[in-house]
Amino acid sequence: MGSPLEPNDRELAAYWMPFTHNRYFKQHHARRMLAKAEGAYYWTTEGDKLFDALSGLWCSGLGHRHPKIVEAVKQQLDSVDYSPAFQMGYGPTFKLAERIIGMSPAGMGQVFFVNSGSEAVDTSMKMALAYHRVKGEAHRTRFIGREKGYHGVGFGGISVGGMVANRKMYASAMLTGVDHLPHTHSLKDMAFSRGEPTWGAHLANDLERLIALHDASTIAAVIVEPMQGSAGVIVPPKGYLQRLREICTKHGILLIFDEVICGFGRMGANFGAHHFGVVPDMITFAKGVNNGTVPMGGVIVRKDLYEAFMTGPDHAVEFFHGYTYSGHPLAVAAAHATLDVLATEGINERVKSLVPVLEEAVHALKGEPNVIDIRNCQLAAAVELTPIEGKPGLRAVRVFEEALKRGVLFRFTGDILAMGPPFTSTPEELGRMAEVLRESIRAAG
Ligand code: PMP
Repeated sequence: MGSPLEPNDRELAAYWMPFTHNRYFKQHHARRMLAKAEGAYYWTTEGDKLFDALSGLWCSGLGHRHPKIVEAVKQQLDSVDYSPAFQMGYGPTFKLAERIIGMSPAGMGQVFFVNSGSEAVDTSMKMALAYHRVKGEAHRTRFIGREKGYHGVGFGGISVGGMVANRKMYASAMLTGVDHLPHTHSLKDMAFSRGEPTWGAHLANDLERLIALHDASTIAAVIVEPMQGSAGVIVPPKGYLQRLREICTKHGILLIFDEVICGFGRMGANFGAHHFGVVPDMITFAKGVNNGTVPMGGVIVRKDLYEAFMTGPDHAVEFFHGYTYSGHPLAVAAAHATLDVLATEGINERVKSLVPVLEEAVHALKGEPNVIDIRNCQLAAAVELTPIEGKPGLRAVRVFEEALKRGVLFRFTGDILAMGPPFTSTPEELGRMAEVLRESIRAAG
């Protein structure tokens, strides 16, 4: 105690923490106050060194404070601190858009910058509606999301998202005309699958049912995460995303991949679209684009979608949308440096080489007490535990706390422990992470 980084009681009380059990945290914040970050580790104000098993919140895959990214942001502050993105241009933003298109699947043509994953999702949904309208199909207004999907916390995102806790308070305020595909997880049919489960591609056919119910001409877009991260690494069954693509194409429905977690290396590829071999019409991204250093997100769109907007009156803004901080120069500088590192340090290859290591390490936990499923998808994995009767989530909290004592920071969601370790992790670090999880599961009981 006594560190200048330790909040006093008034300060603790003043901060309403996001997605956190505030009352519990404020009473039990020992070991949970961060003081320093470097590479794959955090240090707490009490001096504990923690392996960052989720790369921040899935965003710092290159490790914290990568020297090239730090340098780029510092240098940026010596030239332009802020530039308005409306009606004025700043060259590095255009160059960044072009670089991102160069990393995207063929057919993508433009990038629209925002500041977070939530903004990216809501932006993509507005683009979908506006696109159909400019094409003379204003009747296409419905969206289809998926159960257990996470698409941020904007009203668009919670409407298409499928997490009850994020939705129930806002029921009547959400978008109307939204349906959900079934989620693709089944303990009965796919527990302990390695990588993409072989069961479950047929679940995509539910889209045909919704089309038969509403008619394709009313549906604007389908939005899914290629791999559902926040729900606890729910891996798409083999062939599932391909089937969604086929159905959307057949019916003129846009397919949006929310790649806020999958994009920029986590899948051992530039995007999940590459890894799964399915090209959507739009890709939302955030997090990894600049290693989480400065808030940034964006939407990548197919070239002809953008072009459809460019045919209106020649004196008017084509798409009335944008944020004060769209393409913030610090975020852009951090992104350029991140893309340099991804390219020059062979990160996709490195991630691919770690995939079997992570897979072996986590699946070795099969048979530990209360472990009911283990899932992995490229450099993401999750271990699901039986809930304690009447207290869902409590078992995972206990495991989380045992792991903190042993020097690993996991993320828990419900009774699932999630891992998305830094791309720069060593095989030994991944092995140790899994062993700590084993010890913590045993200790938590
Ligand atoms: N979409 C997905 C797939 C995400 O994983 C997240 C964040 N975990 C978001 C959207 C929201 O991003 P943000 O928290 O930056 O708004």
